[in-house]
Amino acid sequence: MTAMTRVGYCPVCDENQRPKRGQLYIYLNGDSWEAEAIGNTTRGITPHLYLLIRANENFVYYKKICLMVGCGVKSETIDNKQALSIDENKMSGIIKTTTANWNALVMLKDF
Ligand SMILES: [Zn+2]
Repeated sequence: MTAMTRVGYCPVCDENQRPKRGQLYIYLNGDSWEAEAIGNTTRGITPHLYLLIRANENFVYYKKICLMVGCGVKSETIDNKQALSIDENKMSGIIKTTTANWNALVMLKDF
């Protein structure tokens, strides 16, 4: 799996006391993106996109980004329609984790 949506900790949302119930986020549904309003919330805990960059026997290297609109996702009006897209500028640097941790994340299916 090279891209997946999982819950993670976002320091920016935490600092801004987000997410708030009803705020929009996006998530991967198969190969397509869906937008949804968030329900029950825990401060600083938000949907994230995890992107696999590379992996070897012991370690996985990935990037992640918060999927809340107004944080890692930007909202623009195009042809009078709201268009949501990933704000690449907010993407994390490359993060290294163990294969075991990565596999645990893969198994943790919130979305
Ligand atoms: Zn965030």
